[in-house]
Amino acid sequence: MSLENNEKRVAVIGGGAIGVSSAVHLLRKGAQVVLITEAALGSGASGRSLSWLNSAGERALEYHALRMAGIDRYRTLFAQHPDLPWLRFDGGLYWAADDDRGTQARHAYESAHGYDSALIGPNNVAEFTPNIAPQAMADSAIFNAGEGWVSLPHLIGWLMEEFHQLGGKLIEHAGKATVKTDGSGRACGVVTARAGELAADAVLVACGPQTPDVVAPLGVTIPNGSPVSMLVTTDPIDTPIEAVMNTPRAAVRPNPGGTLAVDHDWYEEHISRSAEGEYRIPEPVVQELLDEASKLIAGRPALRASGWKIGLKPIPGDGNPVFGGLKKVPGCFVAFTHSGATLALIAGELLADEIISGEPHPMFATFRAERFNQA
Ligand SMILES: Cc1cc2nc3c(=O)[nH]c(=O)nc-3n(C[C@H](O)[C@H](O)[C@H](O)COP(=O)(O)OP(=O)(O)OC[C@H]3O[C@@H](n4cnc5c(N)ncnc54)[C@H](O)[C@@H]3O)c2cc1C
Repeated sequence: MSLENNEKRVAVIGGGAIGVSSAVHLLRKGAQVVLITEAALGSGASGRSLSWLNSAGERALEYHALRMAGIDRYRTLFAQHPDLPWLRFDGGLYWAADDDRGTQARHAYESAHGYDSALIGPNNVAEFTPNIAPQAMADSAIFNAGEGWVSLPHLIGWLMEEFHQLGGKLIEHAGKATVKTDGSGRACGVVTARAGELAADAVLVACGPQTPDVVAPLGVTIPNGSPVSMLVTTDPIDTPIEAVMNTPRAAVRPNPGGTLAVDHDWYEEHISRSAEGEYRIPEPVVQELLDEASKLIAGRPALRASGWKIGLKPIPGDGNPVFGGLKKVPGCFVAFTHSGATLALIAGELLADEIISGEPHPMFATFRAERFNQA
């Protein structure tokens, strides 16, 4: 069947940042889009993400290139709307535990491929970013001036305004959706638990950490390395910080309303799961994390949690993103990645390009699901 681009009906499963971004980019290209999600929009990883916009540290150059393109799209949005309280580019601050050599090696690596990376220390940190407690720092730290942060729930709300203006159809609280295939094995629609069946010419599975489960019945195996993680938000504080901080005991970023968002991984062993599937953590562990965060800020302000959310952080088994059309199931596309905050805008753009044009996007060449079946 040959379709004009503007007649293509695309079903997007997953109302996180990547599904919503893809849906909007598809609508911009003239597709008819239905966005189907299990519960509320943003109730997955995108509702509890540190959302540090970065390509810091070491990774494959293809992944670095994709992340830099991701940052580029946010910078464009920022340039067009410099006053958004949920998207800032005020830099990132990093130091490693105990070992200045690790920090220095990271700085050398970043500098070698042109990533904006300055080696700094407690004595001059104030020249780069305000209100950091120098006594909490290691002797060597890195300031990455080009980094920023986004609040994904706000981004989703912003994109959804355009989604509705462009005539997209949203089905929230649909329950678990599955991909329907026709007799030739081609994706032809979506079956939902609560909203019936929907026919489509293409289906995008953007279900975060559940993506491997959704494509498994299609005979597609994607290893899942998603750990359980937590994001804590605080009450407002009087000491404004600007940089996203990644330090040995706490990662901290500013959050709209003068609040902070805080995460790390050292407390993962304290997270348990009830018989009903609810994740829990003892409250003193949450406070311990906030006390660690407080040490990083000038004057050590008392930090109190306004709330915390726990769930899976999407990470494919080999750590690299999984993007693009499935060879085994024509018409079915996937998006499953860590760093999905950094990638949300670019991933949506490139996926929409691939879905509408039918041409594999070259930037996804090393990120296809088929790499897992080549062993
Ligand atoms: C604590 C934490 C810190 C992070 N820090 C960073 C960071 O600093 N920088 C960065 O770039 N990234 C970071 N990430 C990762 C980033 O937040 C995620 O990669 C991104 O939010 C994933 O978006 P998504 O749309 O793919 O998935 P999600 O936001 O999980 O959305 C998927 C949606 O699909 C729905 N769904 C699932 N299965 C089905 C089904 N069968 N049918 C219908 N709907 C379904 C879910 O309900 C969910 O709403 C972090 C994540 C976490 C959790």
